[in-house]
Amino acid sequence: MQAAVREFIRNRAKDRCEYCRIPQVAIDASLHVDHVIARQHVDQIDEDTEHLAMACDRCNFYKGTNLSTVDPEGGEIVPLFNPRQDRWETHFTFEGAAIIGLTPIGRATLRLLQMNALNRLELRSWLIEEGIL
Ligand SMILES: [Zn+2]
Repeated sequence: MQAAVREFIRNRAKDRCEYCRIPQVAIDASLHVDHVIARQHVDQIDEDTEHLAMACDRCNFYKGTNLSTVDPEGGEIVPLFNPRQDRWETHFTFEGAAIIGLTPIGRATLRLLQMNALNRLELRSWLIEEGIL
């Protein structure tokens, strides 16, 4: 991937994970360029920036190649949050250091990506205290 393309994606994401919103400055590992629809699901690898998003290593790992998962409340199969099509604020909100899922897509994505794992809650609490979040 060309450096200019990566830079465009990074700037569009405001240098933070487009799933859990952790800023690059708060984590050691570099943000990954995520294929919103994993390569194995399409015939042609689409490197168009409209199919790419920034993701932290944790969100990228837990998302894997998944396109959908189960809403923990309703039990229905729902698509994962798509940062290129969906507004974050429609599906998620912050309640202190915790991320809350507002919709089936938000709840299901939150659970699959383990956005409220204890270490992330502790990190976000610290970032809030420091005025970074
Ligand atoms: Zn993340």
